[in-house]
Amino acid sequence: MWFTRWVQPTCPPVRRPSRSATAALSLFTTRGARRFRVSESWRLQVRTVELPLITPFRTSRGTERVKTALVLHLHSPMGEGWAECSVDHTPLRGAEFVSGAVLLLSHVLLPLLAEHRVRTAARAHEVLADVPGNQAARSALELAVLDAAAREQGEPLARILGGAREKVAVGVSLGIPDDIPTLLAMVEDHLAQGYERITLTIEPGWDLEPLRAVRERFGYGFSLAVDANQAYRGDSREHREILLAMDDFGLSMVEQPFPHDDLVAHARLAEHLWTPLCLDESISSPGQAEAALQLAACSIINIKPARVGGYLAARDIHDLARRRSVPVWCGGMLETGISRLANLALASLPGFELPADISGSSHYFARDLTPALHLVDGQLGVPTGPGLGAEVDPEALAALTVAEVEVTVSENGGERGPSFGRMSRNAEAITLAG
Ligand code: MG
Repeated sequence: MWFTRWVQPTCPPVRRPSRSATAALSLFTTRGARRFRVSESWRLQVRTVELPLITPFRTSRGTERVKTALVLHLHSPMGEGWAECSVDHTPLRGAEFVSGAVLLLSHVLLPLLAEHRVRTAARAHEVLADVPGNQAARSALELAVLDAAAREQGEPLARILGGAREKVAVGVSLGIPDDIPTLLAMVEDHLAQGYERITLTIEPGWDLEPLRAVRERFGYGFSLAVDANQAYRGDSREHREILLAMDDFGLSMVEQPFPHDDLVAHARLAEHLWTPLCLDESISSPGQAEAALQLAACSIINIKPARVGGYLAARDIHDLARRRSVPVWCGGMLETGISRLANLALASLPGFELPADISGSSHYFARDLTPALHLVDGQLGVPTGPGLGAEVDPEALAALTVAEVEVTVSENGGERGPSFGRMSRNAEAITLAG
Protein backbone atom coordinates (compact mmCIF):
# COMPACT_ATOMS: atom_id res chain seq x y z
CA MET A 1 0.00 0.00 0.00
CA TRP A 2 1.27 3.43 -0.79
CA PHE A 3 -0.07 6.55 0.67
CA THR A 4 0.61 10.17 0.01
CA ARG A 5 -0.89 13.43 1.04
CA TRP A 6 -0.13 16.40 -1.10
CA VAL A 7 -1.58 19.78 -0.35
CA GLN A 8 -1.47 22.31 -3.11
CA PRO A 9 -0.36 25.67 -1.82
CA THR A 10 -2.97 28.30 -2.41
CA CYS A 11 -1.63 31.30 -4.30
CA PRO A 12 -3.29 34.46 -3.16
CA PRO A 13 -2.82 37.39 -5.51
CA VAL A 14 -6.01 39.23 -4.61
CA ARG A 15 -7.88 40.30 -7.69
CA ARG A 16 -11.21 41.84 -8.46
CA PRO A 17 -14.04 39.53 -9.43
CA SER A 18 -14.55 39.37 -13.19
CA ARG A 19 -17.41 41.35 -14.72
CA SER A 20 -19.44 38.19 -15.28
CA ALA A 21 -18.87 37.09 -11.72
CA THR A 22 -19.93 40.52 -10.43
CA ALA A 23 -23.14 40.28 -12.43
CA ALA A 24 -23.84 36.82 -11.04
CA LEU A 25 -23.42 38.17 -7.52
CA SER A 26 -26.82 39.79 -7.61
CA LEU A 27 -28.43 36.39 -8.06
CA PHE A 28 -27.09 35.06 -4.81
CA THR A 29 -28.79 35.14 -1.48
CA THR A 30 -27.43 37.51 1.14
CA ARG A 31 -25.57 34.63 2.66
CA GLY A 32 -24.22 33.62 -0.72
CA ALA A 33 -23.20 37.16 -1.52
CA ARG A 34 -21.30 37.44 1.72
CA ARG A 35 -19.52 34.25 0.86
CA PHE A 36 -18.77 35.54 -2.58
CA ARG A 37 -16.91 38.56 -1.31
CA VAL A 38 -14.88 36.53 1.15
CA SER A 39 -12.49 34.35 -0.75
CA GLU A 40 -13.00 30.78 0.35
CA SER A 41 -11.18 27.56 -0.23
CA TRP A 42 -12.20 24.29 -1.83
CA ARG A 43 -10.54 21.17 -0.46
CA LEU A 44 -10.87 17.78 -2.07
CA GLN A 45 -9.63 14.47 -0.75
CA VAL A 46 -9.49 11.79 -3.42
CA ARG A 47 -8.97 8.29 -2.09
CA THR A 48 -8.36 5.30 -4.30
CA VAL A 49 -10.18 2.31 -2.83
CA GLU A 50 -10.12 -1.36 -3.72
CA LEU A 51 -12.95 -3.66 -2.65
CA PRO A 52 -12.64 -7.40 -3.34
CA LEU A 53 -15.77 -8.67 -5.10
CA ILE A 54 -17.51 -11.64 -3.50
CA THR A 55 -17.99 -13.11 -6.98
CA PRO A 56 -15.73 -12.13 -9.90
CA PHE A 57 -17.76 -10.41 -12.64
CA ARG A 58 -16.92 -11.59 -16.15
CA THR A 59 -18.08 -9.91 -19.33
CA SER A 60 -16.83 -9.96 -22.90
CA ARG A 61 -14.50 -7.11 -21.88
CA GLY A 62 -12.73 -8.93 -19.08
CA THR A 63 -13.10 -10.23 -15.54
CA GLU A 64 -13.37 -7.89 -12.58
CA ARG A 65 -12.21 -9.39 -9.27
CA VAL A 66 -11.59 -6.21 -7.33
CA LYS A 67 -13.71 -3.09 -7.54
CA THR A 68 -11.52 -0.01 -7.89
CA ALA A 69 -13.00 3.42 -7.38
CA LEU A 70 -12.15 6.93 -6.25
CA VAL A 71 -13.92 8.24 -3.16
CA LEU A 72 -14.28 12.01 -3.12
CA HIS A 73 -14.67 14.01 0.08
CA LEU A 74 -15.32 17.62 -0.80
CA HIS A 75 -15.06 20.51 1.65
CA SER A 76 -16.68 23.42 -0.15
CA PRO A 77 -18.14 26.81 0.76
CA MET A 78 -21.53 25.02 0.61
CA GLY A 79 -20.48 22.35 3.09
CA GLU A 80 -19.17 18.81 2.88
CA GLY A 81 -20.14 16.26 0.28
CA TRP A 82 -19.18 12.74 -0.71
CA ALA A 83 -19.09 10.99 -4.05
CA GLU A 84 -17.60 8.05 -5.90
CA CYS A 85 -15.85 8.04 -9.26
CA SER A 86 -16.10 4.63 -10.87
CA VAL A 87 -12.90 4.14 -12.87
CA ASP A 88 -10.40 1.34 -13.28
CA HIS A 89 -6.62 1.53 -13.11
CA THR A 90 -6.46 1.00 -16.88
CA PRO A 91 -8.67 2.51 -19.61
CA LEU A 92 -9.81 -0.85 -21.03
CA ARG A 93 -13.50 -0.85 -20.07
CA GLY A 94 -13.83 2.92 -20.52
CA ALA A 95 -11.71 5.89 -21.57
CA GLU A 96 -11.17 7.19 -18.04
CA PHE A 97 -8.76 5.68 -15.54
CA VAL A 98 -7.58 6.23 -11.98
CA SER A 99 -4.43 8.32 -12.49
CA GLY A 100 -6.01 10.50 -15.14
CA ALA A 101 -9.18 11.04 -13.12
CA VAL A 102 -7.21 11.97 -9.98
CA LEU A 103 -5.23 14.52 -11.96
CA LEU A 104 -8.30 15.94 -13.67
CA LEU A 105 -10.35 16.17 -10.48
CA SER A 106 -7.63 17.80 -8.42
CA HIS A 107 -6.07 20.10 -10.98
CA VAL A 108 -8.73 20.99 -13.50
CA LEU A 109 -12.25 20.38 -12.22
CA LEU A 110 -11.85 21.55 -8.63
CA PRO A 111 -10.03 24.76 -9.68
CA LEU A 112 -12.85 25.41 -12.16
CA LEU A 113 -15.46 25.30 -9.39
CA ALA A 114 -13.33 27.62 -7.27
CA GLU A 115 -12.63 29.98 -10.16
CA HIS A 116 -16.35 30.32 -10.85
CA ARG A 117 -17.18 30.55 -7.12
CA VAL A 118 -19.86 27.95 -7.57
CA ARG A 119 -22.62 27.97 -4.97
CA THR A 120 -25.23 25.64 -6.46
CA ALA A 121 -25.22 22.16 -7.98
CA ALA A 122 -26.82 23.51 -11.16
CA ARG A 123 -23.96 25.96 -11.58
CA ALA A 124 -21.44 23.20 -10.88
CA HIS A 125 -23.07 21.17 -13.65
CA GLU A 126 -22.80 24.11 -16.08
CA VAL A 127 -19.17 24.76 -15.26
CA LEU A 128 -18.10 21.11 -15.39
CA ALA A 129 -20.03 20.49 -18.61
CA ASP A 130 -17.56 22.84 -20.30
CA VAL A 131 -14.90 20.13 -19.99
CA PRO A 132 -15.17 17.64 -22.87
CA GLY A 133 -15.47 13.91 -22.12
CA ASN A 134 -14.45 12.63 -18.69
CA GLN A 135 -18.04 11.94 -17.72
CA ALA A 136 -17.21 9.80 -14.68
CA ALA A 137 -14.94 12.43 -13.12
CA ARG A 138 -17.38 15.24 -13.85
CA SER A 139 -20.27 13.19 -12.50
CA ALA A 140 -18.42 12.45 -9.28
CA LEU A 141 -17.51 16.05 -8.50
CA GLU A 142 -21.02 17.20 -9.37
CA LEU A 143 -22.42 14.56 -7.00
CA ALA A 144 -20.15 15.78 -4.21
CA VAL A 145 -21.55 19.29 -4.73
CA LEU A 146 -25.12 17.92 -4.87
CA ASP A 147 -24.55 16.02 -1.65
CA ALA A 148 -23.09 19.09 0.05
CA ALA A 149 -25.98 21.29 -1.10
CA ALA A 150 -28.61 18.72 -0.12
CA ARG A 151 -27.06 18.19 3.32
CA GLU A 152 -26.97 21.93 3.91
CA GLN A 153 -30.66 22.16 3.01
CA GLY A 154 -31.46 19.11 5.12
CA GLU A 155 -33.07 17.45 2.10
CA PRO A 156 -32.54 13.95 0.71
CA LEU A 157 -30.96 13.78 -2.71
CA ALA A 158 -34.08 12.11 -4.09
CA ARG A 159 -36.16 15.18 -3.26
CA ILE A 160 -33.58 17.51 -4.81
CA LEU A 161 -33.70 15.48 -8.03
CA GLY A 162 -37.50 15.26 -8.08
CA GLY A 163 -37.91 11.67 -6.93
CA ALA A 164 -41.44 10.38 -6.59
CA ARG A 165 -41.30 6.93 -5.00
CA GLU A 166 -40.16 5.54 -1.68
CA LYS A 167 -39.00 2.16 -2.93
CA VAL A 168 -37.24 1.07 -6.09
CA ALA A 169 -37.65 -2.33 -7.72
CA VAL A 170 -34.28 -3.82 -8.50
CA GLY A 171 -32.86 -6.41 -10.82
CA VAL A 172 -29.45 -8.01 -11.00
CA SER A 173 -26.86 -8.51 -13.73
CA LEU A 174 -25.06 -11.84 -13.66
CA GLY A 175 -21.60 -12.14 -15.18
CA ILE A 176 -20.56 -14.98 -17.45
CA PRO A 177 -19.97 -18.12 -15.34
CA ASP A 178 -17.79 -21.12 -16.17
CA ASP A 179 -20.64 -23.39 -17.25
CA ILE A 180 -24.41 -23.86 -17.51
CA PRO A 181 -24.87 -25.60 -14.10
CA THR A 182 -23.15 -22.67 -12.39
CA LEU A 183 -25.38 -20.23 -14.27
CA LEU A 184 -28.53 -22.11 -13.26
CA ALA A 185 -27.43 -22.07 -9.62
CA MET A 186 -26.81 -18.30 -9.81
CA VAL A 187 -30.22 -17.64 -11.37
CA GLU A 188 -31.96 -19.84 -8.78
CA ASP A 189 -30.20 -18.03 -5.93
CA HIS A 190 -31.11 -14.55 -7.17
CA LEU A 191 -34.71 -15.46 -7.99
CA ALA A 192 -35.00 -16.76 -4.42
CA GLN A 193 -33.68 -13.42 -3.15
CA GLY A 194 -36.55 -11.69 -4.94
CA TYR A 195 -34.83 -9.79 -7.73
CA GLU A 196 -37.44 -8.58 -10.19
CA ARG A 197 -35.30 -8.98 -13.29
CA ILE A 198 -32.37 -11.23 -14.10
CA THR A 199 -29.95 -9.96 -16.75
CA LEU A 200 -27.57 -12.47 -18.28
CA THR A 201 -24.28 -11.18 -19.62
CA ILE A 202 -23.69 -12.65 -23.07
CA GLU A 203 -21.00 -12.74 -25.73
CA PRO A 204 -20.55 -14.66 -29.01
CA GLY A 205 -20.41 -18.33 -28.02
CA TRP A 206 -22.30 -17.73 -24.77
CA ASP A 207 -25.76 -16.56 -25.78
CA LEU A 208 -28.55 -18.84 -27.07
CA GLU A 209 -27.53 -21.95 -25.15
CA PRO A 210 -27.57 -20.36 -21.67
CA LEU A 211 -30.83 -18.56 -22.51
CA ARG A 212 -32.43 -21.85 -23.53
CA ALA A 213 -31.17 -23.55 -20.38
CA VAL A 214 -32.53 -20.83 -18.09
CA ARG A 215 -35.96 -20.73 -19.73
CA GLU A 216 -36.22 -24.54 -19.74
CA ARG A 217 -35.32 -24.74 -16.06
CA PHE A 218 -37.19 -21.74 -14.64
CA GLY A 219 -39.91 -21.08 -17.22
CA TYR A 220 -41.21 -17.76 -18.54
CA GLY A 221 -42.75 -16.40 -15.34
CA PHE A 222 -40.06 -13.84 -14.59
CA SER A 223 -38.35 -10.95 -16.36
CA LEU A 224 -35.20 -12.08 -18.17
CA ALA A 225 -32.88 -9.81 -20.18
CA VAL A 226 -29.47 -10.00 -21.82
CA ASP A 227 -26.61 -7.51 -21.89
CA ALA A 228 -23.99 -7.95 -24.62
CA ASN A 229 -21.69 -5.07 -23.58
CA GLN A 230 -21.00 -4.25 -27.29
CA ALA A 231 -19.69 -7.78 -28.01
CA TYR A 232 -21.41 -8.30 -31.38
CA ARG A 233 -20.78 -6.70 -34.77
CA GLY A 234 -23.42 -5.04 -36.88
CA ASP A 235 -21.72 -6.13 -40.11
CA SER A 236 -21.75 -9.82 -39.13
CA ARG A 237 -24.69 -11.76 -40.55
CA GLU A 238 -24.05 -14.54 -38.04
CA HIS A 239 -24.23 -12.11 -35.13
CA ARG A 240 -27.43 -10.51 -36.40
CA GLU A 241 -29.06 -13.93 -36.78
CA ILE A 242 -28.13 -14.88 -33.22
CA LEU A 243 -29.59 -11.64 -31.91
CA LEU A 244 -32.80 -12.05 -33.91
CA ALA A 245 -33.15 -15.60 -32.55
CA MET A 246 -33.44 -14.10 -29.07
CA ASP A 247 -37.04 -13.23 -29.87
CA ASP A 248 -37.80 -16.88 -29.02
CA PHE A 249 -37.04 -16.41 -25.33
CA GLY A 250 -39.51 -13.75 -24.26
CA LEU A 251 -36.84 -11.33 -23.09
CA SER A 252 -37.64 -7.96 -21.55
CA MET A 253 -34.75 -6.43 -23.52
CA VAL A 254 -31.57 -7.01 -25.48
CA GLU A 255 -29.00 -4.50 -24.25
CA GLN A 256 -26.18 -2.90 -26.23
CA PRO A 257 -25.31 -5.64 -28.70
CA PHE A 258 -23.09 -3.47 -30.94
CA PRO A 259 -20.27 -0.96 -30.35
CA HIS A 260 -21.32 2.25 -28.67
CA ASP A 261 -20.74 4.47 -31.71
CA ASP A 262 -22.76 2.31 -34.11
CA LEU A 263 -26.24 3.75 -33.66
CA VAL A 264 -27.13 2.87 -37.25
CA ALA A 265 -26.51 -0.86 -36.68
CA HIS A 266 -28.71 -0.73 -33.60
CA ALA A 267 -31.45 1.04 -35.56
CA ARG A 268 -31.30 -1.60 -38.31
CA LEU A 269 -31.52 -4.42 -35.77
CA ALA A 270 -34.39 -2.72 -33.94
CA GLU A 271 -36.39 -2.72 -37.19
CA HIS A 272 -36.47 -6.52 -37.21
CA LEU A 273 -36.19 -7.44 -33.54
CA TRP A 274 -39.46 -7.96 -31.70
CA THR A 275 -37.73 -7.78 -28.31
CA PRO A 276 -37.14 -4.20 -27.07
CA LEU A 277 -33.62 -2.96 -27.75
CA CYS A 278 -31.92 -1.09 -24.92
CA LEU A 279 -28.87 1.15 -25.24
CA ASP A 280 -26.31 1.59 -22.48
CA GLU A 281 -22.77 2.51 -23.57
CA SER A 282 -24.14 4.49 -26.57
CA ILE A 283 -25.90 6.96 -24.27
CA SER A 284 -23.13 9.24 -23.08
CA SER A 285 -25.06 12.51 -22.94
CA PRO A 286 -28.57 13.94 -23.37
CA GLY A 287 -27.62 14.74 -26.97
CA GLN A 288 -26.71 11.13 -27.67
CA ALA A 289 -29.99 10.02 -26.13
CA GLU A 290 -31.86 12.40 -28.42
CA ALA A 291 -29.95 11.08 -31.45
CA ALA A 292 -30.63 7.45 -30.51
CA LEU A 293 -34.35 8.09 -30.11
CA GLN A 294 -34.53 10.08 -33.37
CA LEU A 295 -32.90 7.15 -35.17
CA ALA A 296 -35.19 4.64 -33.43
CA ALA A 297 -32.01 2.86 -32.35
CA CYS A 298 -33.59 1.83 -29.04
CA SER A 299 -36.90 1.69 -27.21
CA ILE A 300 -35.39 1.54 -23.68
CA ILE A 301 -32.51 3.53 -22.20
CA ASN A 302 -30.18 2.38 -19.46
CA ILE A 303 -29.07 5.55 -17.65
CA LYS A 304 -25.80 5.50 -15.75
CA PRO A 305 -24.95 8.88 -14.19
CA ALA A 306 -21.21 8.21 -14.35
CA ARG A 307 -21.50 7.56 -18.08
CA VAL A 308 -23.61 10.59 -18.98
CA GLY A 309 -21.72 13.24 -17.00
CA GLY A 310 -23.70 13.40 -13.78
CA TYR A 311 -27.04 13.15 -12.04
CA LEU A 312 -28.42 16.33 -13.58
CA ALA A 313 -27.62 15.10 -17.10
CA ALA A 314 -29.18 11.77 -16.10
CA ARG A 315 -32.31 13.63 -15.05
CA ASP A 316 -32.34 15.46 -18.40
CA ILE A 317 -32.23 12.13 -20.24
CA HIS A 318 -35.01 10.83 -17.99
CA ASP A 319 -37.13 13.90 -18.85
CA LEU A 320 -36.39 13.54 -22.56
CA ALA A 321 -37.34 9.86 -22.58
CA ARG A 322 -40.45 10.47 -20.52
CA ARG A 323 -41.72 13.05 -22.99
CA ARG A 324 -41.46 10.33 -25.64
CA SER A 325 -42.94 7.60 -23.39
CA VAL A 326 -39.65 5.68 -23.53
CA PRO A 327 -39.01 3.74 -20.30
CA VAL A 328 -35.63 4.11 -18.62
CA TRP A 329 -33.83 2.29 -15.86
CA CYS A 330 -30.81 3.04 -13.73
CA GLY A 331 -27.84 0.85 -14.56
CA GLY A 332 -25.01 -0.14 -12.28
CA MET A 333 -21.24 -0.31 -12.51
CA LEU A 334 -20.57 -2.55 -9.51
CA GLU A 335 -20.39 0.64 -7.48
CA THR A 336 -19.83 0.95 -3.75
CA GLY A 337 -22.67 1.98 -1.46
CA ILE A 338 -21.88 5.67 -2.06
CA SER A 339 -22.98 5.57 -5.70
CA ARG A 340 -25.73 3.04 -5.06
CA LEU A 341 -27.34 5.42 -2.54
CA ALA A 342 -27.24 8.20 -5.14
CA ASN A 343 -28.52 5.85 -7.84
CA LEU A 344 -31.48 4.90 -5.64
CA ALA A 345 -32.33 8.60 -5.39
CA LEU A 346 -32.18 8.93 -9.18
CA ALA A 347 -34.20 5.76 -9.74
CA SER A 348 -37.01 7.20 -7.62
CA LEU A 349 -37.89 9.59 -10.48
CA PRO A 350 -41.19 8.68 -12.12
CA GLY A 351 -39.85 7.68 -15.55
CA PHE A 352 -37.62 4.96 -14.12
CA GLU A 353 -40.28 2.36 -14.81
CA LEU A 354 -38.01 -0.69 -15.10
CA PRO A 355 -36.07 -2.39 -12.27
CA ALA A 356 -32.77 -0.72 -11.47
CA ASP A 357 -29.44 -2.54 -11.48
CA ILE A 358 -28.80 -1.70 -7.83
CA SER A 359 -28.28 -4.91 -5.93
CA GLY A 360 -28.23 -5.39 -2.20
CA SER A 361 -24.80 -5.02 -0.61
CA SER A 362 -24.41 -8.78 -0.12
CA HIS A 363 -24.29 -9.23 -3.90
CA TYR A 364 -21.03 -7.31 -4.21
CA PHE A 365 -18.74 -6.90 -1.23
CA ALA A 366 -17.96 -8.49 2.10
CA ARG A 367 -17.34 -4.95 3.38
CA ASP A 368 -18.91 -1.86 1.83
CA LEU A 369 -18.19 1.82 2.46
CA THR A 370 -21.70 2.62 3.67
CA PRO A 371 -24.27 0.77 5.78
CA ALA A 372 -25.50 -2.29 3.90
CA LEU A 373 -28.53 -2.00 1.61
CA HIS A 374 -30.91 -4.91 2.13
CA LEU A 375 -33.37 -6.16 -0.44
CA VAL A 376 -37.00 -6.55 0.76
CA ASP A 377 -39.47 -8.17 -1.65
CA GLY A 378 -37.30 -7.30 -4.63
CA GLN A 379 -37.07 -3.63 -3.64
CA LEU A 380 -34.66 -1.24 -1.96
CA GLY A 381 -35.78 1.76 0.07
CA VAL A 382 -34.94 5.22 -1.25
CA PRO A 383 -32.73 7.01 1.32
CA THR A 384 -34.59 9.66 3.31
CA GLY A 385 -31.74 11.31 5.24
CA PRO A 386 -30.06 14.53 4.05
CA GLY A 387 -27.88 14.24 0.96
CA LEU A 388 -26.95 10.69 0.11
CA GLY A 389 -28.90 9.59 3.16
CA ALA A 390 -26.13 7.69 4.95
CA GLU A 391 -22.65 8.32 6.23
CA VAL A 392 -19.46 6.84 4.84
CA ASP A 393 -17.97 4.36 7.30
CA PRO A 394 -14.58 5.89 8.25
CA GLU A 395 -13.09 2.58 9.39
CA ALA A 396 -14.08 0.78 6.20
CA LEU A 397 -12.80 3.70 4.13
CA ALA A 398 -9.44 3.67 5.90
CA ALA A 399 -9.14 -0.09 5.57
CA LEU A 400 -9.93 -0.12 1.84
CA THR A 401 -7.92 2.97 0.81
CA VAL A 402 -4.74 2.27 -1.15
CA ALA A 403 -3.82 5.84 -2.09
CA GLU A 404 -4.86 9.36 -1.25
CA VAL A 405 -4.37 12.80 -2.75
CA GLU A 406 -5.57 16.03 -1.20
CA VAL A 407 -5.75 19.37 -2.93
CA THR A 408 -6.84 22.80 -1.72
CA VAL A 409 -7.72 25.62 -4.10
CA SER A 410 -8.43 29.20 -3.11
CA GLU A 411 -11.08 31.16 -4.95
CA ASN A 412 -8.54 33.95 -5.27
CA GLY A 413 -6.28 31.95 -7.49
CA GLY A 414 -8.71 30.35 -9.88
CA GLU A 415 -8.22 30.92 -13.55
CA ARG A 416 -8.20 28.25 -16.18
CA GLY A 417 -4.64 28.96 -17.37
CA PRO A 418 -2.97 28.63 -13.99
CA SER A 419 -5.15 25.59 -13.27
CA PHE A 420 -3.77 23.75 -16.25
CA GLY A 421 -0.33 25.09 -15.47
CA ARG A 422 -0.42 23.49 -12.04
CA MET A 423 -1.12 20.04 -13.46
CA SER A 424 2.55 19.26 -13.87
CA ARG A 425 3.21 19.70 -10.16
CA ASN A 426 0.51 17.25 -9.19
CA ALA A 427 1.57 14.82 -11.91
CA GLU A 428 4.97 14.83 -10.29
CA ALA A 429 3.45 14.18 -6.88
CA ILE A 430 1.42 11.25 -8.20
CA THR A 431 4.43 9.77 -9.96
CA LEU A 432 6.52 9.99 -6.82
CA ALA A 433 3.77 8.36 -4.79
CA GLY A 434 3.34 5.47 -7.20
MG1 MG B 1 -24.98 -2.74 -19.91
